[in-house]
Amino acid sequence: MEKRNTKQKEKIIKILSRKENHIHPTINEIINLVSKEDKTIGQATIYRQINNLVQDNILKKIPTKDGFHYDIKTDLHSHFICQKCNRLIDLYDSNYQKIINELQNKYSLNIIEANIILYGICEECNDKV
Ligand SMILES: [Zn+2]
Ligand SMILES: [Zn+2]
Repeated sequence: MEKRNTKQKEKIIKILSRKENHIHPTINEIINLVSKEDKTIGQATIYRQINNLVQDNILKKIPTKDGFHYDIKTDLHSHFICQKCNRLIDLYDSNYQKIINELQNKYSLNIIEANIILYGICEECNDKV
């Protein structure tokens, strides 16, 4: 049982790690992606495995206005969500850690997790106006 569990977990990680799947999928999108490749992994198992992966910090759960999205990239970055095309874009910037450190010191906090989400209109949608 344990062995099977590990195998399913590895399979899900493999599927989500593919470049074309770096779309910050929702749980329903993950179920579609996994079922397309492996029909033997049931929905309940996928739910359970995804929760385990989040707990193990392999997968990051991003709470957005429209529900949860999942991110295989757990390094520090923020997200931009286009309110026209609903695209979720990764924003990397070396200043995040600096800002977090400054806030920690300023307010005497121990910041464990950061979820920075910015909403607006993306470049492509802006050009269409
Ligand atoms: Zn857009
Ligand atoms: Zn991301």
